[in-house]
Amino acid sequence: MNTNNRFNLSRRHFVSASLGASAVVFAKSRLFAQEAGIVPTMIQAASQAKIEVNRLRRNISVLEGSGGNIAVLTGKDGKLLIDAGFTVSRSRVAPALDSLSADSITRLINTHWHVDHTDGNAWLHGAGAAITAHENTKKHLSASTRVEEWSYTFPPAPAEALPTTVFRDGHRLRHNDTALALKYYGPAHTDSDISVVFEEADVIHVGDTWWNGFYPFIDYSTGGSIDGMIRATKRNLSVVTDKTIIVPGHGPVGNKGGLSEYYDMLVAIRGNVSKLKKQGKSLAETIAAKPTAAYDAKWGQFLMTPAIFTKLVYSGV
Ligand SMILES: [Zn+2]
Ligand SMILES: [Zn+2]
Repeated sequence: MNTNNRFNLSRRHFVSASLGASAVVFAKSRLFAQEAGIVPTMIQAASQAKIEVNRLRRNISVLEGSGGNIAVLTGKDGKLLIDAGFTVSRSRVAPALDSLSADSITRLINTHWHVDHTDGNAWLHGAGAAITAHENTKKHLSASTRVEEWSYTFPPAPAEALPTTVFRDGHRLRHNDTALALKYYGPAHTDSDISVVFEEADVIHVGDTWWNGFYPFIDYSTGGSIDGMIRATKRNLSVVTDKTIIVPGHGPVGNKGGLSEYYDMLVAIRGNVSKLKKQGKSLAETIAAKPTAAYDAKWGQFLMTPAIFTKLVYSGV
């Protein structure tokens, strides 16, 4: 199977894997999100989702279906994971990991502090993983942290879920004969986002700075902003080539073309919303003016609806 086919397959899988067994569950999730909130919705989806395993390049694979995308590097030093997903899917994530190789789990890197990327930290640490993250990931996991847009206050994570190694600007490590570069974005989707590059394989995990195919969430409560998202995406575009495999936080694995399209969408919507706000339009008037209309068919079909995304952009311009 060539790379493009595999990615198309992965896109089809994502719709079912991330939101449950079928389009019916997708519709239910949208309804449930309105009634119960985003966090219970994400956990519910993860509790039902099948875990899809996609082999990318060399010894790197991605598991989709437990919150954020989980990248896995296998080899003699043990498995290294990027992001931990939700604990509710442990019973499906563990066999998916076993299906890749018999190596034990020795390392975990968190792309940022959000629950859909760190909830599984405790069990993975218990299984043998040392945890590396940006210092702000540890800061938010260590304290009670509220995300206004999710109407949700996260209690401090248990000690075993906390990163054991933290850094500020950048960090490098070697694992399974692979050089990994971890680089801090500065405030983007939160104030704790990092990218992780597998250098020899030319694969990058960009965390939630990219939701491939969906309007992204932006967490202003912990330092995110639309301008930070645009800056992070511009930087990602500057470090990838047409051959680079790009793992987004959510959505199917993609490439530079897809990321460029996402960048153009962010910039265009920021411009539209900013113009309306400068004209003195209220948030309700701005949403009513549909500044995202040209993009909704492609990007507005997931949890971040056109109205929610407009509100997120409006907050930052
Ligand atoms: Zn996420
Ligand atoms: Zn996130």
